[in-house]
Amino acid sequence: MRRTDEEQALEEGATALPPPLPPVCPRCGAERERRPTGTGHYILLEPEALPVALVPVGHRWYVTSDGCAVNWTGEALAALCRIAHRRVCDDLPSG
Ligand SMILES: [Zn+2]
Repeated sequence: MRRTDEEQALEEGATALPPPLPPVCPRCGAERERRPTGTGHYILLEPEALPVALVPVGHRWYVTSDGCAVNWTGEALAALCRIAHRRVCDDLPSG
């Protein structure tokens, strides 16, 4: 069954507030780099780029030349990729 863009965005953590609201995490309040995903959603990315070998397929985000973030599941586009803040945020204590 094909997921809707909405379901996919939720699953990937592309739930950032859209501009002009501030690029902060609604859960922990951290400010992160916000990028459009190309499906009408926005995602907060962690600032550090990681070697793709350390990041499971499906969690590898790349920033394209037009400034969009793409969760690419095919062959690695670069040696480094980014991860969604949501993925890290889930491990942080709330409040
Ligand atoms: Zn957070």
